[in-house]
Amino acid sequence: MHLYMKKCSFDEYTIMNPLGISRYLIYACKYLMYVVSIGGSDSSAGAGVQADIRTCSALGVYCMSVITAVTAQNASRIIKIKPMDADTVRAQLSALEGVHELVVKISMLYSKSIIDVVADVLRHMNGNVSVVVDPVLRSGSGRYLLKRDARSYYMEKIIPSATIITPNIMEAEWLSSMRIRDYDDMCRAAERIASLGARDVVIKGGHMQRGEDVHVTDLLYHDGKFYRFTNRRIKGPRLHGAGTIFSAAIAAELAKGNDTVSAVRIANIFTHNAIMNAGIDGSRVPLIGNECIYNDDIIATLRRAIDILQFTDGIALLIPESQSNLVFARVGAESRDDVVGVTGRIVRYEYGYDGKDMKYYYEYARAVGPIRYGASKHVADAVLTAMRYDASMRSAMNIRYDDAILDICKGLGLSIAGYDRSKEPEHIKKREGMSVRWGIEQAILSSSRVPDVVYHTGDWGKEPMMIVFGHDPMDVLKKVISIISRYKGSVEDKDKDNKIELGRGKDCYGQ
Ligand code: PLP
Repeated sequence: MHLYMKKCSFDEYTIMNPLGISRYLIYACKYLMYVVSIGGSDSSAGAGVQADIRTCSALGVYCMSVITAVTAQNASRIIKIKPMDADTVRAQLSALEGVHELVVKISMLYSKSIIDVVADVLRHMNGNVSVVVDPVLRSGSGRYLLKRDARSYYMEKIIPSATIITPNIMEAEWLSSMRIRDYDDMCRAAERIASLGARDVVIKGGHMQRGEDVHVTDLLYHDGKFYRFTNRRIKGPRLHGAGTIFSAAIAAELAKGNDTVSAVRIANIFTHNAIMNAGIDGSRVPLIGNECIYNDDIIATLRRAIDILQFTDGIALLIPESQSNLVFARVGAESRDDVVGVTGRIVRYEYGYDGKDMKYYYEYARAVGPIRYGASKHVADAVLTAMRYDASMRSAMNIRYDDAILDICKGLGLSIAGYDRSKEPEHIKKREGMSVRWGIEQAILSSSRVPDVVYHTGDWGKEPMMIVFGHDPMDVLKKVISIISRYKGSVEDKDKDNKIELGRGKDCYGQ
């Protein structure tokens, strides 16, 4: 289905089906992040635009595509290349009209006429977007993906628009006109490539095998400085698509607002993990699953819990005005940087059918940004305080306070302690970040343990709040889900009595 996306006021996006049959309104999408991949279709999906879409999705970024050529290939050979005509490429680019704040990723361009069209569009963007260029010259299986007569044209028209360019060793040798044998050569080549007009240069070291060296080093040349990212070499056959994944991950991380050095660092880890997870069933195609995004159990555990939370029916009823976070701390955590949370918090999220005569909305919760260490302040402070009394209570989520919710917690047999925010001493109020710590401490001291739930009923300008604690995110989630399953029933009964129609649970299509 062709989707048309338009940025509207009030952080509202409209997605329209071209047949005009149905229209869905999606709210709270202000953090939607885009990459546009301009490149070849790879029928094996190991490289090319398919791999870009997969990588971006795995990293939480929406990826659109402009296909420059259709290739029939598998991991070991390219059977056929059918370039698109320039008009078709131009038409796909023109369909991006109205999409803002995107990162462009350029890979296989193949011919002079396609280079012309893409260069023209880049010129009109006036340097307002980040452009990641993967200078695809030849496939690992040996077939040229950029025609011979288009090479100097590519250098002249595409390279100067690169915010960052990501050649492998062979491509770097081509661009810098020098042989690369060691790390010092990589540095010199990077400087030469930057002098062609690319702002930043990453040279991927995977193809440089030096004797018995068990390491692989990627080099970043950024702002006149060299950064190296070294991993253990993973032994095995040549992998199809690893370079594509690396540059797509850089594009995705830049789209999230990361700086260049962080984007390259994350892409380096991401690709290393994808390669480690490749090779299943004898396939040579790197496989990407959500679990291999980070080699970090804390992040992976929180991600699983957040995936479930986002699809828990009725969860929106527990999200307070000031929104929620679900966090998980490392063993022995001492500071907010040891605690993983959701950047931008977990917000109420509404979607539904907005037909001519009827409106149906479903409400859920949505994590608006990536999961990161240091992403939470208040809920992280709550956990850090709890851990001083019970080091095993490493996770928490804040939810809306309501007398009925408190009664449900009591009915479920959860241990509960409250504190009075109006009794907060002046010297605590004055110190940034101390209120939550003070409050949680009061509650723990009053119940001589870390309870399942700590609450306060608010103060001037302070929203009442509850915090659910647990040993890990699934433990917290179990408690939250048992609260919501009772609370949802009571809200629906009340609404039935008041004859208010609740959209939740109805057919999204109004049928
Ligand atoms: N096919 C397409 C369409 C590509 O874009 C690329 C690289 O970007 C390749 C093939 C080559 O992939 P590899 O060299 O990993 O085999």
